[in-house]
Amino acid sequence: MNTPDTIELRKEARVKENSNKKFVFSFSEGNGKNKQLLGGKGANLCEMTQIGLNVPPGFVISTEACLKYLEDSNHSLPAGVLTQVTEHMRQVEQAAGKIFGDFQKPLLVSVRSGSALSMPGMMDTILNLGLNQKTLQGLVIQTGNERFCYDAYRRFIQLFGKVALGVPDERFDKIFEDVKYKAGVKLDIGLSTDNLKEISQRFLNAVKEHTGKPFPEDVYEQLEIAIKAVFNSWMGKRAIDYRREFNITPQMANGTAVNVVAMVFGNMGSDSATGVAFTRDPGTGENILFGEYLVNAQGEDVVAGIRTPKAVLQLREEMPGLYRQLEELRNSLENHYKEVQDFEFTIEKGVLYCLQTRNGKMNGTAMVRTSVEMATEGLITKQQALLRLKPEMLEQLLHPHLDTTKKTTPLAQGLPASPGAASGQCVFDADRAELLGRSGHKVILVREETKPEDIHGFFASQGILTSRGGKTSHAAVVARGMGKPCVAGAEGIHVDVKLRQAIIGEKILHEGDFITIDGGTGYVYQGVIPTFEPSFSDELKTVLQWADETAKIKVMANADTPDAAQKALNYGAMGIGLCRTERMFNAPDRLPIVVEMILANTEEERSVALNQLLPIQRQDFKDILTTMAPRPVTIRLLDPPIHEFLPTQDELKEELAHLHHLKDTASGVNDLFNTLRLLHAYDESSKAAIPFNEKGIELIDQAIVKKELMLKKVRDLYEVNPMLGHRGVRLGLTYPEIYKMQIQAILEAAADCQEANITVCPEIMVPQVCNAEELIRVKSYVKEVQEKIEKERQLKLVFRFGTMIEVVRACVTADELAKEVEFFSFGTNDLTQATFSFSREDAENKFLPLYAEKNILHDNPFEILDTNGVGKLMRFAVEWGRKSNPALKLGICGEHGGQPDSIRFCHDLGLTYVSCSGPRVPIARLAAAHAKLGEAKSSSL
Ligand code: PEP
Ligand code: MG
Repeated sequence: MNTPDTIELRKEARVKENSNKKFVFSFSEGNGKNKQLLGGKGANLCEMTQIGLNVPPGFVISTEACLKYLEDSNHSLPAGVLTQVTEHMRQVEQAAGKIFGDFQKPLLVSVRSGSALSMPGMMDTILNLGLNQKTLQGLVIQTGNERFCYDAYRRFIQLFGKVALGVPDERFDKIFEDVKYKAGVKLDIGLSTDNLKEISQRFLNAVKEHTGKPFPEDVYEQLEIAIKAVFNSWMGKRAIDYRREFNITPQMANGTAVNVVAMVFGNMGSDSATGVAFTRDPGTGENILFGEYLVNAQGEDVVAGIRTPKAVLQLREEMPGLYRQLEELRNSLENHYKEVQDFEFTIEKGVLYCLQTRNGKMNGTAMVRTSVEMATEGLITKQQALLRLKPEMLEQLLHPHLDTTKKTTPLAQGLPASPGAASGQCVFDADRAELLGRSGHKVILVREETKPEDIHGFFASQGILTSRGGKTSHAAVVARGMGKPCVAGAEGIHVDVKLRQAIIGEKILHEGDFITIDGGTGYVYQGVIPTFEPSFSDELKTVLQWADETAKIKVMANADTPDAAQKALNYGAMGIGLCRTERMFNAPDRLPIVVEMILANTEEERSVALNQLLPIQRQDFKDILTTMAPRPVTIRLLDPPIHEFLPTQDELKEELAHLHHLKDTASGVNDLFNTLRLLHAYDESSKAAIPFNEKGIELIDQAIVKKELMLKKVRDLYEVNPMLGHRGVRLGLTYPEIYKMQIQAILEAAADCQEANITVCPEIMVPQVCNAEELIRVKSYVKEVQEKIEKERQLKLVFRFGTMIEVVRACVTADELAKEVEFFSFGTNDLTQATFSFSREDAENKFLPLYAEKNILHDNPFEILDTNGVGKLMRFAVEWGRKSNPALKLGICGEHGGQPDSIRFCHDLGLTYVSCSGPRVPIARLAAAHAKLGEAKSSSL
């Protein structure tokens, strides 16, 4: 029972348990593999320290402390945390030879967030903590560099004020710009010590005005407030939005750790610098040190894009010794982590420190290239090379590029910060981007620079353009992670958010004007420039070849025309798993014949239309089979209800009303002309041609008759539930001549190919089957046609006969169906619809978004295979099907066939192949390899 006493006792027990618990870990003791507890950054700082890299001393406060703090209704840190922090601070003091809060040798620290998964820029960092009036003066004496100290001080007040005390950034920015303006200074570096002193004082006043309290002087009070602020940032809007967008669950990252690290300064003069670098180029994957640095600056200057930094290769000239050390650091990082690293470094008075490292976020091109090169260099195995590539990431490589022949003169040029090209309407702030993006507009977010709070604008935009900042600025890093094109630091663009315009030289771009950005070259163009499909790089081909060698399950494509078959082949399809024959009927030259076929009232009338369709289908099949030879091509007999080829009742009624009007008008005009002729027997008008003559009216009459016939047919064909109605095999059995024509077209095409010595492998597939008897009947048509062709042509046709499994009853009677066929292909679109009793046409617009939001259904079952429900039915069908026909070939051709998690399930189920749309084939090939490699992993557990 919860009496006040028991509550109090439990609280005491908790306090006791917490005070014995270890929440704080020094870099030399923390387990570098435990990212859940120490966060990615903290774990890496521990690991780097322990492998001997030059990391400033520090410690990590665990994510566990964060979660306990956030749970606590009094918002106090768990008991024991502050004591442990103080103890560890002593160790840092010893290692750094400085003392926290001391006048003589003041120790300053940075306080940074870091969760198990890297969430760049999502949470807040405080630098130079430990400065107050006393330590500031001590630092001045110690460094002999007053300007540096006041520079550090004003940075600290601003960051601490903003992050920990909630003072809006604009208050500081306004003061800063004001002092700069008065001093006539353009760059921050031009500010004098007195300017910085004035800024610091005015910042302190701003904090006091905003919070009603003076800026905290006690360094431990500063530290406690900062730790709490970092913990709180885990529940801040930015972090929550980010986690939601990237589906980061508590199992993946729960709470943030706090890293407290002794400060080292890149702004201590011309022998100091700060930078960020990648061990390989994250845009191209090239094996070169890539990054940017600024001499005499602090880290945030590089990332925030406040000053435009220099390329890291320039350091080779500027500080050759340090460049060599940086190369060594790069090698040590890669050799240890076996992965491309994104690291921050600082050079303080000629000494290089590594402040942070994490796996580099790269675009698809770079990921693929580095996979191939690291495997070839022997740094990683081929399996690791495949596993580090997320299948969905390949989608980026299939992104469009600008059509170079259609390029115009660029409006501006910036840095090529994230490859790919995009066009859209300019918007100048993230909220507007979100608003327009949501309402279906394509937008390009154009900003002077971006900040983490702009993240929702990124999600809604096709691409990002900034006028300040380098390739490692916030805009660049985030866009690359998202695979969106970005041009950064296009300095010729002046963005005016208030006027909603950007000025580029003489040109003014207003909100809504279209621009095109090319993140691969850095060019910005006015208007929309067409794009073209990218081609496969050699590295991508290599990776996919390795994937094919590894995978067990084959990847086919869904393709309906010879053209689509060729494209699928280019994507690496190993055959066609679904050719929807009805799609061939929709071409403009064929639809009228199909309509005739539908309108036919007798079998003879229908045969006339079918005889016209036969050679067309035969040619299509021949082309597809030849293109794919010798790979299998699964051709599905007609599936949709035939009314789909006719206009709707409403359309027909409207057309008929128009035709009647037209007829009235035509007759009226004729009458008018006749009257005019009588009145003016010799008038010129009598010689003029009358606009409508008898022939015209006759044509209108014919059209009316035809449309009325169609309307009658549409009414006859009307069904309440057409998707559960007269379609698929049911249609084929009602009008056998349709299926027979299709079977004849397939088998004659196969015969033509066989006669031409082309090895082809057609598969005839029956849709919507629920009963073995249906298959037996269709098989008899096949047999009849087959025997006829074989006799006429004196050959033995090679083909397979199979069924789709897309009806629940088909799954549960799979043993009976399997006896009649050579293959099953799961049509999981219909099977999902049937299993859930959700209309696949409507569910996604109506209630599925709500189901996802309220977590009633975790995933959209039409996108990700519902393994618990639909999957179970598939499992039964596989088991029972194989039992009665051990040679049965099994595949899937619903949309799920291209979705990596679903592919994994199909692999585990032992299917022979998945089939998906052409452009998803490369993704599916990689996912198929992952499925195989995952199997090895799970069996070794
Ligand atoms: C299916 O139902 O999964 C399928 C592939 O057929 P369709 O989408 O054409 O109905
Ligand atoms: Mg279907």
